[in-house]
Amino acid sequence: MISHRQKPATPWLLIVLFVIISASAILLGFLYYKSQKARLLNDKKLELSAIADLKVRQIAQWRNERVADAILLGENVPFIKQLSEYLHSPKSKALLPDITSSLNSLTRNLDYKSVILIDSTGKVRGNFPKQDSILGNNLRKQLPDLLRLRTGMLTDFHAADNIGYVHLDLVIPLINVWRKDKNAFGLLALRIDPHELLHPLIQTWPVPSKTAESLLVRQEEDKVVYLNELRFKKNAELVLVKSVSEEKLPGAMAVRGIEATINGEDYRGASVVAAMKKVPGSPWYLVAKVDHNEVFLTLNKQITLIIIIIILFILTIGLLLGILEWNENVRFYREKYEAELDHLALRKHFDSILKYANDIIFLTDRNLIIIEANDRAVETFQCDRNELIGTNISKLRAPGTIRALMQEKRILDEKGFATFETAHIRRDGTIIPVEISARKVEIEGVSYFQSICRDITERKFAEETLKESEERFRKIFEESPFSMAMTGKDLGIIRANSAFCKMLGYREEELKSFTFRQFTHPDYIKGDDVSMLKLVAEEIPLYHTEKQYIRKDGIVIWGSATISIIRNNNDEVQYFLAMVEDITLRKKAEAELEKSFSLIKATLESTADGILVVDGRGKIVQHNHKFMEMWRMPESVMETKNDSDAIKFVMDQLIYPEEFVNQIKQLYTDPEATTSDLLEFKDGRVFERYSQPQKISGRSVGRVWSFRDITERKRAEAELIAAKEKAEESDRLKTAFLHNVSHEIRTPMNAIIGFSALLNEPDTTEADRHQFIDIIFQSGSQLLSIINDIVDIANVESGQAKLNIKEMNLNSCLRSLDEQFSYKEKPDVISINLKTGLPDEESVIMTDSTKLIQVLSNLINNATKFTSEGNIDFGYKRKDGYLEFFVKDTGIGIPPEHHEKIFERFFQVDNLISRKFGGTGLGLSICKAYVELLGGRIWVNSRPGEGTIFRFTLPYKIPETPQ
Ligand code: ADP
Repeated sequence: MISHRQKPATPWLLIVLFVIISASAILLGFLYYKSQKARLLNDKKLELSAIADLKVRQIAQWRNERVADAILLGENVPFIKQLSEYLHSPKSKALLPDITSSLNSLTRNLDYKSVILIDSTGKVRGNFPKQDSILGNNLRKQLPDLLRLRTGMLTDFHAADNIGYVHLDLVIPLINVWRKDKNAFGLLALRIDPHELLHPLIQTWPVPSKTAESLLVRQEEDKVVYLNELRFKKNAELVLVKSVSEEKLPGAMAVRGIEATINGEDYRGASVVAAMKKVPGSPWYLVAKVDHNEVFLTLNKQITLIIIIIILFILTIGLLLGILEWNENVRFYREKYEAELDHLALRKHFDSILKYANDIIFLTDRNLIIIEANDRAVETFQCDRNELIGTNISKLRAPGTIRALMQEKRILDEKGFATFETAHIRRDGTIIPVEISARKVEIEGVSYFQSICRDITERKFAEETLKESEERFRKIFEESPFSMAMTGKDLGIIRANSAFCKMLGYREEELKSFTFRQFTHPDYIKGDDVSMLKLVAEEIPLYHTEKQYIRKDGIVIWGSATISIIRNNNDEVQYFLAMVEDITLRKKAEAELEKSFSLIKATLESTADGILVVDGRGKIVQHNHKFMEMWRMPESVMETKNDSDAIKFVMDQLIYPEEFVNQIKQLYTDPEATTSDLLEFKDGRVFERYSQPQKISGRSVGRVWSFRDITERKRAEAELIAAKEKAEESDRLKTAFLHNVSHEIRTPMNAIIGFSALLNEPDTTEADRHQFIDIIFQSGSQLLSIINDIVDIANVESGQAKLNIKEMNLNSCLRSLDEQFSYKEKPDVISINLKTGLPDEESVIMTDSTKLIQVLSNLINNATKFTSEGNIDFGYKRKDGYLEFFVKDTGIGIPPEHHEKIFERFFQVDNLISRKFGGTGLGLSICKAYVELLGGRIWVNSRPGEGTIFRFTLPYKIPETPQ
């Protein structure tokens, strides 16, 4: 709440609070003081009463003791006798010292001031001490009475002219009791000085005190006489006299018979607390008193402190409340300031609302006369503000609306507010539809009408448009060839167009009692629910689905449904609009298509060729797995569906990638072409590539590529060619062999036939005959050797060559070979040297000696054949588990290209020497066959013109030594 006061309110509450607290503090202090005072007074009264009692008892005691002294002395017969004797016989002066001594002992022992012995005539007969032997005037006057006494008596306080101090006398009548005398023969007067014994008894106070005292008084006529020394008045005994009637004087009250503890005023006129008692058996009254001032001294000191505390407390409370009030004032002024600011802001705010408000705002009096109008009103009605002010609101109303004005005013009056739609008219005659929100306001007790008029031209227009659009929608909905239905949030049909009804075979009325679920095929309901939730949650803008519906006649149809949401102004779901297209025919066609597609797919997959179908723009349309397998293409490349990716991937595999790519490029420019070519791969594979245009209605739309792996076929072909070539070669070799053999056989046969004929010639000398027989023999041997070679190779070829393993003395066999060849071959130009690799005793091995010797003989034979001069070395050495044999010559050598071939059958290096020396070309073949048969291998190292070295190995097997 914002206060409208200009000044902060008087803090009455705080003031009252302050007064109450202060008064309470003072009252509490006062009550405390009072209670303390009463308590102290009470304590003091009790104390005084107790002290007074004590004193009275002591005084009474003292008096009793004195009387007892009198009785004791009066009844002391020997003493009385002695005194009697002394008084009755004046001559008996001799007794005087004893008597004086007795009297002296009395004064000494009993604390009597002096003792006087008086005879019956009143004459002092003995005294002690001497200086005090005077008989007081007071006592002298009473003598006749005293002599009549039977027992001792204590006089009251009295003064005597001849005695300097107030005193008392203990008078003891001296009676000879043993003689049964009635009258006393004398008196013994013991003078008591009260200052010595009685006054200290009265004056002593049991506790330390500055003003406490007790005193004795007695009454003399209407006077009160003070009997003892007073604390505050010296020499007052028997001198100070006060009237019995003094109201507040404790002494007076005592003699008046008041025995109590009271407040009074003592002989000084000071306020005192006094306790009064009568001393029994005497005319005395005891007053014990103490000054009020002393009683309340500590309390008065305390009270000063309490007053200071109370003042401080009140000041503190005052300060606190002051601070509170100050804070309150600060808050008040701050709030005031803030409220002022708010007020200012509010005013500005309202000013700007009025000024810039989009609505017309009028304030009219009860007669609808405008008294205030905002800028918008001026602008809308195209007139001056002053013109508007004072105008009746009815002048601004459109003609047809004036009648309603009175009605509106009545409602406004009754309810206090009203909202209605009406129309204003401008100066130029334009009608503006408005919505008026009017309110009755009270300003200073006078009623006004405030109306806010909103131009609703646009809204009206929008409403019209909406109406139109709704009409249009209704028309589209109703007349649409597409099946359409509108459902509520529960998917219950609200409206269905005729196409929809026709599609499902129901009437619209029937459908209105249905929900979509009731004619949706059960298989699709669950999926629908999830998607509808997504649609509602705006995860998807539209829900499109293809599903089956059940018609009224039970036939299942296919529908393509698109469902959208119609929301209200609050963005809440109001309706669902479903458009359903009957796609049963399409679905059927699709099923057919799928069938044929699957057929194509199966066909594609079952072929051994890789197939790739690409459309006119290089997009991969189809391919089979064989294609991917052949091209080793990963799924990822095919997933791009891009022909260029596939080409990029395969290029590296090919030997001629450029040709491959060019061919493809070429075909893009010529879509009608049919091609076939071969693709060679770096890994040796060969593909046949065919391509064929894919045509639809005679027009090329793409291309089908097929790839066939013909690697195997190519290899078989090559093998076939090689085999053929080999057969031809073999044929050629055989021809050469036959040619050779026939030549080799013919030559010795001619010699044999020729020289055999010459043998029979008569003119043939014996020497010639011998020579001819030698030639015939050599030729026969040569013929035999040729036949042996042919037989050996035939055995090897047919697998009939058998091994005959037995012990062999290698060194000795080699030596005989050496000898054999050294003897046989040109010993003058060629030296044959043997090098054995093992000592003789170790040179016994297990092998087929015949075959080994044949191998070595063949090799040495060749060496001698192809060496014109130099050395032929042969021998062996041991190497691991083998024996390595060698035959080395310094002959013509063998070109390197023939190093392998010379081991083939019938092969001869075509040179003069071969031709000259003949030979079948079988020797090395036999060597190779035998060495391999014996478990070794043979090879050659040679250079033409430098010589040849044949090496072969044999397993080194020694005979088993018998155990
Ligand atoms: P041939 O019976 O023709 O000698 P081989 O099979 O023994 O048949 O030899 C085949 C061919 O190898 C010979 O014709 C010859 O050309 C060549 N040849 C063999 N040994 C030697 C060698 N030591 N020096 C040069 N050429 C040789």
